[in-house]
Amino acid sequence: MTDHLDFESDLFRTTIQQLDQVAARLNLDDDIHERLRYPRRALVVSVPIRMDSGKTAVFTGYRVHHNTVLGPTKGGLRYAPDVNLGEVTALAMLMSWKCSLMGLPYGGAKGGVRCTPRDLSRTELEHLTRRYTAEIILLIGPDLDIPAPDLGTDEQTMAWMMDTYSMTQGRTVPGVVTGKPLLVGGSAGRREATGRGIVYVLYQAARHLGQEIRGRKVVVQGFGNVGSVAARLLWREGAILAGVADYKGAVWNPNGLDVGELERHVAASGTVVGFPGADVLNNAEILEQPCDILIPAAIGSQIREDNADRIKASIIAEGANGPTTPEADRILKDRGVTVIPDVLANAGGVVVSYFEWVQGLQYYFWRESEITARLQEVMTRAFNRVWALGTKEGVDLRTAALMEGIRRVAEGYKIRGLYP
Ligand code: NAD
Repeated sequence: MTDHLDFESDLFRTTIQQLDQVAARLNLDDDIHERLRYPRRALVVSVPIRMDSGKTAVFTGYRVHHNTVLGPTKGGLRYAPDVNLGEVTALAMLMSWKCSLMGLPYGGAKGGVRCTPRDLSRTELEHLTRRYTAEIILLIGPDLDIPAPDLGTDEQTMAWMMDTYSMTQGRTVPGVVTGKPLLVGGSAGRREATGRGIVYVLYQAARHLGQEIRGRKVVVQGFGNVGSVAARLLWREGAILAGVADYKGAVWNPNGLDVGELERHVAASGTVVGFPGADVLNNAEILEQPCDILIPAAIGSQIREDNADRIKASIIAEGANGPTTPEADRILKDRGVTVIPDVLANAGGVVVSYFEWVQGLQYYFWRESEITARLQEVMTRAFNRVWALGTKEGVDLRTAALMEGIRRVAEGYKIRGLYP
């Protein structure tokens, strides 16, 4: 079985299609457009580890750099059973557009290991992370490529990566990864950054649409790092959290769920399912419940041609990467739904990762209030730029965000020229 070694995947095809459409709209130089369609480099590695049983298991890992034209590459590391080269490459490309759109001095990268992290013990996860880091070590470094957490990885994963890299250098190198625990060079506000960024863009969207967040019904799919923070912050702002889903199922109460109680329930049981006082629905049903704001913050391809016309929300903020298929996008557009695209809505994480990297390089750490204020400024500015471009060009927010992101990378290529 080598299908996972092929670039071909649904997400890769979609990402290339988006690039081609935006390139045509921007009237991009053909030579630069051609270069943007390929990753700069892609590494596939075998990651053998000793399992707790004493047996050896071999996992497949990937690290892809899409381009380095604006600076070193930046992108998350994903542990999931369906990770493949095409998906990782597409996600690296999307990181290029995202970093460029947010004005960060980075190119895009992404990494992944095909595994089911829930089925691995802590020791096995540590071995997997350290061996994967050792296998891709030629590609990472504080001025080369800086990984961060993504699906199935967290602060602890980043601490192991940083430690493994540092051991090979004989000194501590905090700038090699972001999303680290605070004590070893993490940044205040990093854990909350993606969820918080979603709230900032939702505020701007509501303002442009003449709406308020207070009193709006919200449904969040995914109650992990991104979804739980967005849910908590919106709830604190007076929104009604009507529904929440995780991998086991969904809970729904149109009068509102208490986020504090829900967090305690999840901490104790590992899932939102079984939360008292709420109806149990499945992951597909929750997306179609009557609400104002929908935040898909779990996995890709959740809003598709077969359910897009049943979505009731008038605003969708994409916490996850690629939660809406292109066919669904067209249906939502025709129905007048405002979709705040992933490259913009979930960019808070990479923005604060950038702050963490800068702090690590300077060994000087900022207060959380400074981080939050700067994050709000960057998210608000990017949203308003995208909104203005969308209005001027008569296109949806996804097209406008991609136009802005891709245009800056293309300009970088033009300015730097082609080596040799
Ligand atoms: P996480 O692992 O912390 O949480 C994922 C959540 O999704 C969990 O609650 C899990 O139970 C749930 N889930 C998984 N499969 C599901 C399904 N089929 N239906 C419903 N729920 C399901 O991950 P995260 O860091 O919160 O990331 C979530 C998404 O946001 C991913 O797509 C990731 O790429 C994207 N993202 C994350 C960040 C970040 O800073 N963490 C930044 C940008 C984008």
